[in-house]
Amino acid sequence: MQVESQNPELAHHYPHDLSASRRRFIANLEPSRRGFVTNYPNFQHWKKTGPSQVQLVSPLNIYVHIPFCAQQCSYCYYRTVTGSRKSEMDRYVDALCKEIEMSSERFGLRERPISSIYFGGGTPTLLDERGLNQITETLHKYFKLDSNNLPEFTVEGEPVTVIKKKADVLKNIGANRISMGVQSLCDHVLKLSNRQDTEKKVTRAIGFAQETGAVVNIDLMSGLAGETMDTWKYSVKRALELGVESITVYKTELYANTQYFKDLRNEKISLPTDEQEIEFMRYAMEQFEEASYRPWCFFTFTKQGKYQHVHATRIWEGEDYFPFGVSAFGRLGSQLFQNTNEVDHYVEQVETGETPIFRGHRMTALDEMVRDVLLGIKLNYLSYEYFRDKYGFNLDTLCGGSIEELAQKGYVKRTDGKLVLTQEGMVQGDYSGKFLAKALLARHAA
Ligand code: SF4
Repeated sequence: MQVESQNPELAHHYPHDLSASRRRFIANLEPSRRGFVTNYPNFQHWKKTGPSQVQLVSPLNIYVHIPFCAQQCSYCYYRTVTGSRKSEMDRYVDALCKEIEMSSERFGLRERPISSIYFGGGTPTLLDERGLNQITETLHKYFKLDSNNLPEFTVEGEPVTVIKKKADVLKNIGANRISMGVQSLCDHVLKLSNRQDTEKKVTRAIGFAQETGAVVNIDLMSGLAGETMDTWKYSVKRALELGVESITVYKTELYANTQYFKDLRNEKISLPTDEQEIEFMRYAMEQFEEASYRPWCFFTFTKQGKYQHVHATRIWEGEDYFPFGVSAFGRLGSQLFQNTNEVDHYVEQVETGETPIFRGHRMTALDEMVRDVLLGIKLNYLSYEYFRDKYGFNLDTLCGGSIEELAQKGYVKRTDGKLVLTQEGMVQGDYSGKFLAKALLARHAA
């Protein structure tokens, strides 16, 4: 029999700065030989609940990885595959579809409501009509998807691969968000990064994407080789003239496995300094503000603040996402995991019926809290209520000193029960998230 001990009369022993409910929680744990513990928290803390809240039907996001690219861009540190033959891509797509069939069954995913689908890469638009159709049909077969009411369905594309016919295929498979890696609208900046695109090709491809009726996002990269304030101003101006719903600005990151790294060491290129890059970002934000593009997260700006990206939002808010394809990574509950990162090995494993997961990490409650801070603040704010409900702590109790330091730098402010990034905090990118995460780990990690 499940019976709980309760000892509310002891509540008055505890500090007055604790809430009454917290004092009752503590009082119920007063060490004594009487009052056998059978449960925690005690029933007196439970709320009215019905079957729908008990049933585990938590939503899922689907990520599908396509590793193939038309070329290796000089700044890109992703493991991509270039120069693949059609037969190799077809074999990969067959394996991917088999993985969808196997894993949707093995991990009990088929009945879960789907929040979003994302085809990322690499360059998904490098696949032909057959490949894109095959993957989409397989998803429809093994997941609960309504063709007339699809969730957000994003396909990433490189402009050079988005011809009219390809855009029609994207429309036919139901893509309702097309995200184009444009990076720059200056031809010589594109060339220095080994891109095949030109401003003309980009403009044409975006036109095709817009004709499908999908929400179109374009990515720009600040701080590419050859970028000056003049070239950056031109790219921002042209990006706004294209009239897309959403513009994302990524900072260029320098990694040792890139052509940029080699070219920089051999003095073939130079890159803008961190300070210049911050100036680029400030300029872009001013222009976006003037054109009524609002920050949905600290690096994506959408027309009038609409067209928010569901897939990223849900993941940063902690929803599950299941990865299909080589090197794709995802999350189920507190378990993070990744698929093997060699294409041939991935294909062979799946063909022999093996699940291609090769590494993972089971998060502790502290990991989850740090992750919630790091990823959550990308949406420009953290909710005090969320932390209190999920972890039972006030964010200020956990890292109030660090919040104060960030506030003094002008990066964050407290308002309406939220810790909000200021304009300057947004310009600094992940700085505030990392600062708070470090403070949490330093104080609480065992
Ligand atoms: S930047 Fe995009 S297109 Fe270029 S290599 Fe990387 S994933 Fe491929």
